[in-house]
Amino acid sequence: MERRIRPARRAYLVMVGVGIALFGPLWTLAFLALAGVGFAWMERKLPERRHPEYSIAAAWCVAQIGIGFVIALTGAPMSYAIAWLAIPVTTLPARFSLTGVIAGVGFTLAVLLAATIAPDPADAADHYLYILCAAVVIVSIAIYGVPLMTSDTEHRSGSLIDPLTGLLNRTQLETRFEELAYQAQVSGQPLAMLMCDLDHFKEVNDGHGHATGDAVLRDAAYAIRRNLRPFDVVYRLGGEEFLALLPGTGPVRAMAIAERLRSTVEIGPTGGVSVTVSVGVAVLSPEIEDRTYATMFARADGALYAAKAAGRNQVVTADPPGTTANRLFVREERRMRNPEPLPEDAG
Ligand code: GH3
Ligand code: MG
Ligand code: MG
Repeated sequence: MERRIRPARRAYLVMVGVGIALFGPLWTLAFLALAGVGFAWMERKLPERRHPEYSIAAAWCVAQIGIGFVIALTGAPMSYAIAWLAIPVTTLPARFSLTGVIAGVGFTLAVLLAATIAPDPADAADHYLYILCAAVVIVSIAIYGVPLMTSDTEHRSGSLIDPLTGLLNRTQLETRFEELAYQAQVSGQPLAMLMCDLDHFKEVNDGHGHATGDAVLRDAAYAIRRNLRPFDVVYRLGGEEFLALLPGTGPVRAMAIAERLRSTVEIGPTGGVSVTVSVGVAVLSPEIEDRTYATMFARADGALYAAKAAGRNQVVTADPPGTTANRLFVREERRMRNPEPLPEDAG
């Protein structure tokens, strides 16, 4: 979020600078410089901070205080700079929780009151409407900003998560695959793709109804998820098809995991009925030259098709021993003689 806000903040500071240059006095630019230094310090320190929100809040408050001084020195309630206090309030909902927003608004109102009343309380009393209007603008911006931000967050997570199973939908699949494939290449590690498709699922819908079909999908998704590690990513491709990406997993281990997953679904009961799943496995190892998503998908899909053709309820790999000159396969097979435990919560 800070990366996105940065260009807007720079534009805001430049515009405030132009405003001060036009309406003066020029030496109040020092307060703007103070805000600029505060944000520059924050940007530099942010990556090493355990609580980056504290640094952001500190820089944000320094900037508001700087504007407060400009207001106090350029006419207090009649200052041309009074509206500038409201602009940083627009960033609060994107950066902080509701408590943070309330604290930020409270702080801004305190700066407004101090900057407009302290220089000349009698003058502030005469022009209280100016102060009141500024306060209304500041509070209104926050009131609008909170639901807009919440709606944006819900919209974004809603467009990524399948509401039935809670798994990711395929929106970001290809991008994620490319990232993981790149990491795999850099680290010399394999990357496994498991493509799962429930067997004769149409019969579940036809025989038990759509609601049971949905329950089966939810339970099958859960069975897949709990057989994998937290950093493995699982997608619902659509209908009764699921795809998992397993970083650092070679062909032997991928087959073992796929087999365990298949047997978990078979043991069931899944959604109260008995179903089975077929799994196609493909592994991206350093030997494979065509590392594109389309090729990996086609290989896993081909393996799944072979599993269906061979009678379903089974796991087929696109990388059987010998077909890919796969040194990882050999290395991993050696490791399998002393297998590490699979994920703990295996069903
Ligand atoms: P196969 O063993 O060859 O995979 O056969 P299948 O019956 O599983 O495959 P098919 O593609 O013929 O049928 C998939 C069915 O999944 C058809 C569709 O109505 C159903 N389906 C797709 N999405 C949903 C959903 O969200 N809920 C439910 N209940 N059913 C769904
Ligand atoms: Mg299908
Ligand atoms: Mg199916």
